[in-house]
Amino acid sequence: MSKTIERHEFQAETKELLDLMIHSIYSNKDIFLRELISNSSDAIDKLKFESLTNKEITQTEDSPCILLEVNKNNHTLTVQDNGIGMSREEVVHLIGTIAKSGTREFINVLKENKSQDSLLPPELIGQFGVGFYSTFMVADKVTLVTKRVGEPTATQWESSGDGTYTIEDTDRPSHGTTITLHLKQADSEDGLHDYTDEWVIQNIVKKYSDFVAYPIQMDIEHQEVERDAEGKPIEGGQTKTIVERQTLNSMKAIWTRPESEVSDEEYNEFYKHISHDWNDPLRNIRMKMEGTFEAQALLFIPAKAPMDLFYRDAHRGIQLYVKRVFIMDDCKELMPDYLRFIKGVVDSEDLSLNISREILQQNRQITAIRKRLVKKVLSSLEDMRKTQKEEYLAFWNEFGRVMKEGLYEDYENRQTLTEISFFQSTHDATALTTLREYVDRMKPGQDTIYYMTGESRAKIENSPHLEAFKEKGYEVLILTDPVDELWVQSVMEFDEKSLQSVGKGTVELGTEEEKKEAEKALQEKEQTYHSLLEFLKSKLENDVKEVRLSNRLTNSPSCLVSNPSDMTPQMEQLLKAMNQEVPHTKRILEINPNHPIMEKLQTLFQANKDDARLNDYASLLYGQALLSEGSPLPNPAAFSKLVTELMMQSI
Ligand code: ADP
Repeated sequence: MSKTIERHEFQAETKELLDLMIHSIYSNKDIFLRELISNSSDAIDKLKFESLTNKEITQTEDSPCILLEVNKNNHTLTVQDNGIGMSREEVVHLIGTIAKSGTREFINVLKENKSQDSLLPPELIGQFGVGFYSTFMVADKVTLVTKRVGEPTATQWESSGDGTYTIEDTDRPSHGTTITLHLKQADSEDGLHDYTDEWVIQNIVKKYSDFVAYPIQMDIEHQEVERDAEGKPIEGGQTKTIVERQTLNSMKAIWTRPESEVSDEEYNEFYKHISHDWNDPLRNIRMKMEGTFEAQALLFIPAKAPMDLFYRDAHRGIQLYVKRVFIMDDCKELMPDYLRFIKGVVDSEDLSLNISREILQQNRQITAIRKRLVKKVLSSLEDMRKTQKEEYLAFWNEFGRVMKEGLYEDYENRQTLTEISFFQSTHDATALTTLREYVDRMKPGQDTIYYMTGESRAKIENSPHLEAFKEKGYEVLILTDPVDELWVQSVMEFDEKSLQSVGKGTVELGTEEEKKEAEKALQEKEQTYHSLLEFLKSKLENDVKEVRLSNRLTNSPSCLVSNPSDMTPQMEQLLKAMNQEVPHTKRILEINPNHPIMEKLQTLFQANKDDARLNDYASLLYGQALLSEGSPLPNPAAFSKLVTELMMQSI
């Protein structure tokens, strides 16, 4: 075979990552093997799946296997599988680059962490699918030979982790991948074990990869004394070195073993294997579904949110098995979007092995399983909230933003979701609150849960919309996540209390008596200021749809509000950011009837309706309302010119 060796540079980000990986002090170097075995196991899964759907693939007779080989003389360790293999393009794409979204952020986190205490946080590595690169922690040079199923040529990739790699065509008898690590010298201080030592390898496999569904095998040498015909050792007989191929893992599907027999450690390792996360999970959930269908599930709630949680094409976490046979990864049909961070395995007894992704979408049993899984995950979270609040809040901190998508996506479970959701509130500067806790604190006669959406807590707290609420001691939920804009559109009430934005509609606070009085006072003021309000409206008709007096202001002269059914400006922005056409909704300018400025304006207005200053003051009132809620001005230069003129007049 003609060999053309090509030398490639690593993509800049890959190079940077590699450097960090090699030079960072990293406590547990053994896990490189888990990563390689995991890749091999995935590759065998993929081959199985592809051969189910693509009849042209003829697998070799060999049964699936991951073979480990140590060579003391050459100081190498080889990991070999007969999985799907990779084409030349795939090698360049998958191994030569880390084409995953979020790599840049990942590197930055690594660097930050490194500068703090020079320890590379291992839990981050796996999240980014850079598992293969962990080999450079233990090897000076890595050679990978791979052949994709159905392709005529194999590809050899080699790198010393120095910024370049070579790639060339080569031979390999059948499909699969062989990775040879040219090992660094063992150095116990550095956590580098002797990976040519069979014992070391056996222990690592047992510890991290025992449940891998395919046999992980290795030739193990042992001495045997010569035996007689009955099999008894002959005294003084010769010892022979016997080499025996042994399977190092039990391959037992962890979810089929009795719960009492599986240790937390085993669950944790299994979780790491399927999730590629290096942290322990927060919780695991075992489920047995019986009745019209039979299935088992083992689910995990991760402790840390992956960095790609909000990337549309990010990998999901549920694997589907049928009668212990792996069917597919990333089974989106089994978990709703808002629970996309849940990892685990679902094993059905009744589905067909040939089930395809297309069929899955309409499969009744899949829908039924999904329903049960969601209920179970939510009840498990509910339980955590009740019994381990600290732990739950840590979870909410990581995943709350995604969970809130459920508030509008999952009507069926809305009740539970509203009970387990936490929000910021004016009640406490730091502690989060539930809607239930809010309701328990409501004032006598209060029948509305008030909230305000916005960019940040500071902006919301300083916004004029909150003035009357602050003065009368009414609690307001502070909603700053983009997703909040969405769920408040569909969750109209909780515990028969309606939810209302403090920036929408009119505000009536206090007892019935107080409300009536306020209403009466407002009506009187409206009569006084009727013509002035009409005038202001005519001046601002391009910007607002109404100018009216307000009950929600105490100190500020004006603010902008919307009708209850109107889109908020934040929602408008959000939709625009998603490239959706949105008509601009004009808002309502509310003016504080008790602000001294009103009287002054009235005097000016009554003296001369054509006084040019009235035009300017109308613009200023509107501009101020925008600024005080943190919104941008449509014409900042004009506003600033007006303010300067005003200063000139008063100095
Ligand atoms: P991850 O496994 O987390 O995706 P890796 O860096 O370990 O990240 O591997 C990158 C990709 O290379 C894998 O997703 C897979 O497509 C491919 N790959 C790695 N090892 C193998 C293998 N043994 N057989 C086939 N493909 C592999």
